[in-house]
Amino acid sequence: MTASIALFTRDLRVHDNPVLTAACADGDAVVPLFVLDTELLDKVRHAPNRMRFLVAALSELDAELRSRGGRLIVRRGRIAEVVAQVAREVRAHRVHLAADVTSYSVERSAALRDRLAEIRCDLRLHPASITAVDATALRPDTGRTHYAIFTPYFRRWLDTPMRRPLAAPKALTVPAVESAELPAPGELCADPGSPSLAVGGETTGRKLLAQWLSGPVRQYEATKDLPAHDGTSGLSPYLHFGCLSAAEVVHRTDATDPGGLAFVRQIAWRDFYHQVLADRPEVAVEDYRPAFEPWQRDSHAVAAWKAGRTGLPMVDAGMRQLTEQGWMPGRARLIAASFLVKTLRIDWRIGARHFERWLVDGDIANNRMNWQWMAGTGTDTRSSRVLNPLRQAERFDPDGDYVRRWLPELAGLPGAEIHRPWRAGMLSGDYPPPIVEFNGM
Ligand SMILES: Cc1cc2nc3c(=O)[nH]c(=O)nc-3n(C[C@H](O)[C@H](O)[C@H](O)COP(=O)(O)OP(=O)(O)OC[C@H]3O[C@@H](n4cnc5c(N)ncnc54)[C@H](O)[C@@H]3O)c2cc1C
Repeated sequence: MTASIALFTRDLRVHDNPVLTAACADGDAVVPLFVLDTELLDKVRHAPNRMRFLVAALSELDAELRSRGGRLIVRRGRIAEVVAQVAREVRAHRVHLAADVTSYSVERSAALRDRLAEIRCDLRLHPASITAVDATALRPDTGRTHYAIFTPYFRRWLDTPMRRPLAAPKALTVPAVESAELPAPGELCADPGSPSLAVGGETTGRKLLAQWLSGPVRQYEATKDLPAHDGTSGLSPYLHFGCLSAAEVVHRTDATDPGGLAFVRQIAWRDFYHQVLADRPEVAVEDYRPAFEPWQRDSHAVAAWKAGRTGLPMVDAGMRQLTEQGWMPGRARLIAASFLVKTLRIDWRIGARHFERWLVDGDIANNRMNWQWMAGTGTDTRSSRVLNPLRQAERFDPDGDYVRRWLPELAGLPGAEIHRPWRAGMLSGDYPPPIVEFNGM
């Protein structure tokens, strides 16, 4: 009997999974393997929401595999050692793995390839498993090694043929091999995280996607920037953990409809940032382009920002949602990030780290590159853009409903008055005065 290994990382799904499909076609039996990689877990132990989401996603993946006659094999330890050990146990000739873009994942693949070579086992990397389009495939005609501007990238991306979604395997033969128990919630991280965190996996993600595509996506253009309307898909954690395939999401979206096209464009932003990082992995920590002004140090202001107590309701509402739910709509992320980096002039890395501690979709490419975009050190062509939270509130939360939802101490203020509590004489109550002044106060 020949066996191969499908090594899951952040592609926790059976549908449209090039890794699983290739592994199933590559022998008589397949080991669907997930390694609780102790080195990686040490790096993300401070992120309870992602740890909880991961536990739920593994459980749904196991259920999907079991319904096809298989099961998820879970092991714990240093990944290259563990995979080599499993490969030896089942005499696997090949390990299949999704190609990824972070420095950690690139080093992981190299270490794995070397370790497996010692036991004469191949490693095969599958591109376009984590992104819709291979993160290393598109190059601009200018000779640059990645696209630095989104619009030409998007044009090219739209013209790039994508595979048709791969069906989930109908049945799986998993050889007799030992597995640890699936991790329990709280096992990977003792911190309980956000009280209203929503978790799920492939099964839940597919239901949410079907629901989103059945109607709400058509309103996306009109509602995506209105945080009170919940007008975005909410699929980011499912895409981050690969419970949903970005390629399948694009394939199933009707891009002839303006809402569908606007939605697909956001998936292309995700691909865009992944292709930047694939070419320049160091920009996860270094400025993509140099910052011209020095960053300020202000621990009190940073603490107020983290606690959602800057006195600017539109900023604070987003920051409260972040800790309560482990998630924020895109517009709230932009406003909160602009306030930190452009108004307070605090280094984007401080904001990015805080977001990664809480965000259930916390993603190196998307988070760091969006922070850099806002900080003016990234790919934004208008790097001096500053978002005034009062103007943003007027435009995107005209009735104050978003702020009312997250700042209960201001809920008594009617309509848009909630955005300027200082005018309503609310400053003696629970809510702090603004830590900075803006035009229009
Ligand atoms: C400062 C900052 C930090 C961010 N950090 C993250 C992060 O850690 N993880 C993350 O997935 N997204 C991040 N984003 C991008 C974006 O805000 C979220 O993807 C989006 O709000 C998630 O909600 P949704 O799934 O409802 O998105 P939708 O609006 O429904 O969009 C669909 C999908 O497109 C992708 N997408 C949307 N906007 C962007 C964008 N600007 N850049 C890259 N991909 C995008 C996401 O995968 C998203 O799920 C960040 C944005 C900012 C401004």
